[in-house]
Amino acid sequence: MNQKMKKKSFINKDRFIDHCAVFGTYNIEESIYSSILGLHALQHRGQEASGIFYFSDLNSFSFKKGSGKVSEVYNAFDHSKIQNPIVTNGHNRYSTFGGNEDKNIQPLYAQINRDIISIAHNGNITNAHFLKNNLLEDGCIFQSDMDTEVILHLIAKSKETNIIDKIKDSLRKVEGAYSLVITYNDEIIAIRDPNGIRPLVLGKKNEGYIVSSETCGLDIINAEFEREINPGEILLINKMGLKSFPIVNNIQKKFCVFEYIYFARPDSNFEDKNVYNVRINIGKQLFYEDTNNNSDIVIPVPDSGLASAIGYSEASGIPFQLGIIRNHYVGRSFIQPKQELRDLAVKMKHNVNLKLLRDKTITLIDDSIVRGTTSKKIVTLLKNAGVKEIHFKVASPTIVGSCHYGVDTPDENNLIANIKSLNEIQSYLEVDSLQYLSIEGLYKSLNETNGYCDACFTKNYPVPLVDKNLENYQKEQIKLV
Ligand code: SF4
Repeated sequence: MNQKMKKKSFINKDRFIDHCAVFGTYNIEESIYSSILGLHALQHRGQEASGIFYFSDLNSFSFKKGSGKVSEVYNAFDHSKIQNPIVTNGHNRYSTFGGNEDKNIQPLYAQINRDIISIAHNGNITNAHFLKNNLLEDGCIFQSDMDTEVILHLIAKSKETNIIDKIKDSLRKVEGAYSLVITYNDEIIAIRDPNGIRPLVLGKKNEGYIVSSETCGLDIINAEFEREINPGEILLINKMGLKSFPIVNNIQKKFCVFEYIYFARPDSNFEDKNVYNVRINIGKQLFYEDTNNNSDIVIPVPDSGLASAIGYSEASGIPFQLGIIRNHYVGRSFIQPKQELRDLAVKMKHNVNLKLLRDKTITLIDDSIVRGTTSKKIVTLLKNAGVKEIHFKVASPTIVGSCHYGVDTPDENNLIANIKSLNEIQSYLEVDSLQYLSIEGLYKSLNETNGYCDACFTKNYPVPLVDKNLENYQKEQIKLV
């Protein structure tokens, strides 16, 4: 399936949109209920669909899947009569690849010889079309549009004799970002790509194990954090315990730096760093990079700018106030035919605290600016509320490149910082000043300079974009004919 054919829903695309979540369990009590809780904690990573595959003794397996949020999908799911499964594999989906039809809801599963395998994926395979075309030519029949299914076919076709070697053999052909949870009969296998672009953590509860996209998935079921799955690691979990295997020898960590800026939940931890604390540091750093500020108050765009605004306020001494109130009960923003209705729709999500803001000079903080349209609407709301001056601070560097590693992003031509200068963006937003965090400042906030993907700020893509380059090449050929 060509990516152009993917069916897109009418979600507001003026934000990098979270990708997917994985959550697997091995030998824990109440494993299905725990999976539902874990997926609920990871809801921010995908809200289009959710699924849990489960495998019990005597080779019995089943699954529950559906479109919608976790609370909707499992609301009427009576799992009380199901024998506690030894392994479960859960997934929340936001489609970065393939459409949002039921056939694309993960985990995907298959029978390979007599073995039952399921797979859940967070990330994006950058040579999926290339591999899929080869597999189709070899006679493979695909049941979904998912890049993830390519991995299942590669495993099924591998001539290796055991599952770990089959997985290694398959993943050595795959490029891109992948944090995977695979169940293989009553075993579970956790995998991170050799750059470790997407997160994946291991937890322990009594004698059992949990694999989760983020630590907040462990906290909700009172599991202990053990460690992260290492970049390039295949971790087999079965009745013998844990066993680790490398995919390749050449490992180069390139963890997505945007996880710290926006994607991850603030109470999650990666690499011994608490996400909330990093965001506080980012806010402080924004102030240190330009201390010339006579604002009356600092206000965040909720919730994305919250922690950085607190950090900015702490560093500057300018009082933090909630000048914009976010309505958490709003779902998707629907396309409205008239501008007037579109303006009202913005107010459904954000409203300003009129009495607080009138005649104030404010520092407004958001985590990022993607296309700029939402920022402009928020600025308009503030101006209509009688704000005197707006000094807009952005808690990330300018976004100039699309993400190809599992995050839904607009095309480069729609990224405002890729097509406009700083002055032009300031004029477009109609703000009194505009400041972005520097890339150096971002790394200062992390206390680390190496080991991150920052391609959306620098266009330095750490993993080859095979399909995209092939597509560009084909377009060139068509032009030449
Ligand atoms: Fe993260 Fe940006 Fe790299 Fe994508 S391109 S993985 S969003 S840092």
